[in-house]
Amino acid sequence: MKEYKVSVIPGDGIGVDITEQAIKVLEKIGGKYGTKFNFTTLKAGGCAIDEFGTPLPEATLEECKKSDAVFLGAVGGPKWDTLPGNQRPEKALMGLRGGLGLYANLRPAKVYNILKSASPLKEAIIDKGIDLLVVRELTGGIYFGERGRGAEEDVNYAYDTEKYNVEEIKRIAHVAFKAAMKRNKKVTSVDKANILESSRLWRETVVEVAKEYPEVELNHLYVDNTAMQLVRDPSQFDVILTSNIFGDILSDEASMITGSIGMLPSASLRNDSFGMYEPIHGSAPDIAGKDLANPLAQILSAAMMLEYSFNMSEAARDIENAVEKVLEKGYRTGDIYTEGMKKVGTKEMGKLVLEEI
Ligand code: NAD
Repeated sequence: MKEYKVSVIPGDGIGVDITEQAIKVLEKIGGKYGTKFNFTTLKAGGCAIDEFGTPLPEATLEECKKSDAVFLGAVGGPKWDTLPGNQRPEKALMGLRGGLGLYANLRPAKVYNILKSASPLKEAIIDKGIDLLVVRELTGGIYFGERGRGAEEDVNYAYDTEKYNVEEIKRIAHVAFKAAMKRNKKVTSVDKANILESSRLWRETVVEVAKEYPEVELNHLYVDNTAMQLVRDPSQFDVILTSNIFGDILSDEASMITGSIGMLPSASLRNDSFGMYEPIHGSAPDIAGKDLANPLAQILSAAMMLEYSFNMSEAARDIENAVEKVLEKGYRTGDIYTEGMKKVGTKEMGKLVLEEI
């Protein structure tokens, strides 16, 4: 029997509610596919501040490094909102990404046929389908570049620097092309090459990497145009490849057009099979502990973990199909509920998915 060591960080708020359901799904799928997941539950975020005085205890990071994958809920909440920036729960996320060397962020945005009405876009646009993947560079660019403040002739100024080297661009481009090979074989590289020198290097490098993937169609769009195209006709996209800052903004836009934040998973990866998997939403303190949270984004994050870290594509499809079947049968948590559907809580939704596996 294959065994994998998974570090589970439920975090705060609904993170606790939804990881509980997703772990049950993983245990069942493990049984079905002859794989044992050894879970270690760790603290990070607000709960770690309360217990250890820091959002990311050294012991948590060290334990994550020893595991095959990290499975994260969400961190944060109003209790810790007044703390200074570097002591806030969200600091744990940056610490985990940096500390684990996770340079590629994958965020699929998909509209399920049965949840079409949740999208804020017009039906004529949605009917063409939305099923795209944003591949965002996660450890470089302006979020990590040199920054500072100063004063010139008594006027204060501040600056941040966008800097990428060829190797950083190449490795993220490979992630995007490899993902496209498993999907519809199209990569749209997003930059601002009409203005930024860093974007011109980005584009040149992506063109070079593309030569290794002759089956994949490559096109380039400026980031401002991409923002428009995402609402005008998102069906044109398969894989969107972009930098840290552009990806931050575009992946939020892409998730918004699906209309259901409680449905969207994500993966943060590096070169080996190791990854960190989490839903894109936050800790939703307004509904935490009330059996109201939608656990499907967390459950779909488990499917991504199977796919990318454990090479268990069939098991991943199994989970995705189970989720789709539950939705087809009309079961909805409050966030995706529409009249005529059957409203269920977090635990019931988890149980329904289990039954379909
Ligand atoms: P949020 O995503 O937590 O919530 C936004 C809205 O969506 C809320 O009304 C919430 O109830 C709802 N929602 C989110 N996920 C849901 C789910 N699974 N089921 C049903 N409804 C859901 O964003 P926010 O309110 O801006 O932030 C709350 C806290 O989470 C903050 O402390 C923020 O910093 C933190 N946060 C953490 C992460 C993370 O851990 N990766 C990401 C974003 C925000």
